[in-house]
Amino acid sequence: MTEAFHYKGGELFCESVPVAAIARKVGTPVYIYSQNHFVRQVQAIKDAFRDVQPMVCYAVKANSNLGLLRALALAGAGFDTVSRGEIYRALRAGAEPGKIVFAGVGKQEHEIEYALEQGILMFNVESESELELIAKVAARLKADAPIALRINPDVDPQTHKYISTGKSENKFGIDLARAEQCLGRIRELKHLRLRGVHIHIGSQILKNDRHGEAIDRVLPFIERCRKMDFPLEYLNVGGGYGIAYDVGQGVDIAEFARVMLPKIKQSGLKMLSEPGRFISGNGGVMLTQVVHVKKSAEKDFLIVDAAMNDLIRPTIYQAFHKIWPARHPGLADGGVMGADSPLTDTNLGKDAQVYDVVGPVCESGDYFALGRKLPRMEQGELVAVFSAGAYGATMASNYNTRGRAAEVIVNGSEYWVARDRETVEDMIRGERLTPREVFKA
Ligand SMILES: *Cc1c(COP(=O)(O)O)cnc(C)c1O
Repeated sequence: MTEAFHYKGGELFCESVPVAAIARKVGTPVYIYSQNHFVRQVQAIKDAFRDVQPMVCYAVKANSNLGLLRALALAGAGFDTVSRGEIYRALRAGAEPGKIVFAGVGKQEHEIEYALEQGILMFNVESESELELIAKVAARLKADAPIALRINPDVDPQTHKYISTGKSENKFGIDLARAEQCLGRIRELKHLRLRGVHIHIGSQILKNDRHGEAIDRVLPFIERCRKMDFPLEYLNVGGGYGIAYDVGQGVDIAEFARVMLPKIKQSGLKMLSEPGRFISGNGGVMLTQVVHVKKSAEKDFLIVDAAMNDLIRPTIYQAFHKIWPARHPGLADGGVMGADSPLTDTNLGKDAQVYDVVGPVCESGDYFALGRKLPRMEQGELVAVFSAGAYGATMASNYNTRGRAAEVIVNGSEYWVARDRETVEDMIRGERLTPREVFKA
């Protein structure tokens, strides 16, 4: 299977569309997504875990573009959400309410009420306090609230500290001892229906035994629930499967499955998984244009028209993103991340250059790469920042009053604008020059 993003005749393509054609039509910076990559990744998980017929609930926060959510809903995916807004998005995109799960440590009363009214599959409960609040809202609505307990299994996912969620020092989930105590309380609270056990230990996990270890930790708890006659149905193993950010990286999902499957079978429960990055990460690039090439005494800077407000991962997670010009005459054909990738140091060309690739924002943290060896580039050239389909557009802001980038979905040889570029009028909507109403202290 060829990769969604690949070079052919020295041109970068998304599926069958040259990305330069999109830039001409829509401008830059622009996020470009391969619809078929998203759908294929869902299928890859279903295939790897087919023995247990998994429900795949895509984590909306990774990339919440409505057009993409719709394609995923049509492909049979469910959705993992962390706010009322995300539940609303999923439903607008055509999600079945019975395939939506709702996580997050700070669910508020109005969010719980909304989720109950919509009839979601279950709440992933992260504290005793939340248990009480859900029970209260459910009682008021005379409804039953389906819940899973999110267990913090105290497993080190061996990833960046900001994206670790399954260690005891993290704010997420309930430790096993407290979870035991919750069982008694769940039985007392009339409107709660315990349907599952949930774990999610972190993100960009590359080692294939971490999920397995987490499942091992909760198996005795599942047994305990059974003994207490709770009719458990689901084991939600979370998301977090890592992807390639550089040539030849990435995970073999079949290897994760090989470790996890025997344990999932042992639980006797249906499997649910909620990957975000694995589905979306390499389904998108951020395409940007070189505004200036600036030389200083020490360095060469490529100043591009995208900035940290468009893609903040390099500066907050010290994340590596592969970067390469969208046009590179003479470059061999091949997918961007795979074994046949032409994007290697040996293919830089003879006048390769070391650049800091930076944006126009007034912060030294506004960069995409520091000291990166790249083919020599000139003003006006298009540059692709790869693996930008996850935690790119969803983490964008208006810092420096920069409108958020347009988003384009490619399907085969066609593409469409799935989100308009934000205008300055969009950005100041809701602000006022003078008071509409003045309040007294
Ligand atoms: C963010 C999140 C996910 C998705 O994580 P990825 O690393 O993108 O797969 C899954 N479940 C929960 C509860 C999350 O918060």
